[in-house]
Amino acid sequence: MSARALFGAIEAGGTKFVCAAGYGPLDLRPDLHEVIPTTSPAATLAAVAGFFDRVCRSAGELAGIGVAAFGPVDIDRRSSTWGSILGTPKPGWSGVSLVAPLARFGCPIGLDTDVNAAALAEARLAAEPGVDSLVYVTVGTGIGGGAVVGGRTIGGMLHPEMGHIRVRRHARDQHFAGICPFHGDCLEGLASGPAIRARWGSELAALPAEHPGVEIIGDYLGQLAATLALITSPASIVFGGGVMNERLLPHIRSAAARDLAGYLPVETRAGGFEHLIVGPRLAEKSGIIGAMLLAIGRDGHPDGIESGTRGRAYGR
Ligand code: ZN
Repeated sequence: MSARALFGAIEAGGTKFVCAAGYGPLDLRPDLHEVIPTTSPAATLAAVAGFFDRVCRSAGELAGIGVAAFGPVDIDRRSSTWGSILGTPKPGWSGVSLVAPLARFGCPIGLDTDVNAAALAEARLAAEPGVDSLVYVTVGTGIGGGAVVGGRTIGGMLHPEMGHIRVRRHARDQHFAGICPFHGDCLEGLASGPAIRARWGSELAALPAEHPGVEIIGDYLGQLAATLALITSPASIVFGGGVMNERLLPHIRSAAARDLAGYLPVETRAGGFEHLIVGPRLAEKSGIIGAMLLAIGRDGHPDGIESGTRGRAYGR
């Protein structure tokens, strides 16, 4: 067994499960890494457990496993269904426990949403020192967000579902009904990748320069950024995901600035909105790095592990 504690990390996504192991969030072992396609729960979770069996055989016992999961997922440790996927349109996955197949490794398990984990990673490892409040928003097949407030990710009744807020319609986007099956023209119904394709028949990045699409989507995301700034007062709002690109960020910033109308002291801080609203600094690695942070435990210290939870959980 290695002298250093070895941790496992899982980024459990709708299309793939990324599995990794290493000694710290920035010290993943390149030889202990596997990408498993998300198929049936039985096949996918058996492959995940098989990966960690091989990790234990080759590198020794695991001191913890972190799971950064797609949602909706039960992240309430007091709940009897903690670690289970809740009602999802993904066939076969509703009610499936992501943590039960990991119990055999006998180590603490940390679990949170993929976006909360990404927010944790960006706050701890990418933002300037001392930042303990940050929001991470992903804009892709859906729109999701995670948040760190006071150094902890947030959740309660469920976890943040900030993609489903209402936004004011853009003057040049009055007629598209929106595609959210619950709300029609909520933010996700208007600005997710599928909403963009349904409305304009193209990816956002492929629209011609004179097309209003980038400004319209930037406007909607800027409304979310302004709302987040007002509600959680984050030091940083990070926008990532497949729809995001460099052309979009300036529109998000200007829409947020318009909506806030000078009410918050953003512009008086160094960097202003360019400092507040940014792209991801850990790129596509924020999820797996966040999962490592969940494995290691609260505050990154082994003593953050609560007593009596070995084999179960230690915070989210
Ligand atoms: Zn919705």
